Amino acid sequence: MDCPSCGVFNPEERETCWRCNTELPSKAPPKRRSSQQSARLWLYVAVALFAIVTFARTCGVGPDWLQPDLELPPEGMLPRRAPIVYQLDISAVPEPL
Ligand SMILES: [Zn+2]
Repeated sequence: MDCPSCGVFNPEERETCWRCNTELPSKAPPKRRSSQQSARLWLYVAVALFAIVTFARTCGVGPDWLQPDLELPPEGMLPRRAPIVYQLDISAVPEPL
């Protein structure tokens, strides 16, 4: 850092010129290289959010917009979160010849 008054070199850590005692302009604090860090943080946030939403959808908890898009029967016939049961209709199976 050169002194703005007399132009002599001063070490970076000095706050005043060693020669003319002029107050040296304070150097801006070194900017942390945080862009990569914040990008990684956002990645973590996105992954966590995705995991939470997936978990919520799987368990059927959370607000309605998180619910799985099931084909629902008409209103009132079944509860909102009725499990899907696949039943084998035996009468539909043809008799062996
Ligand atoms: Zn100076």
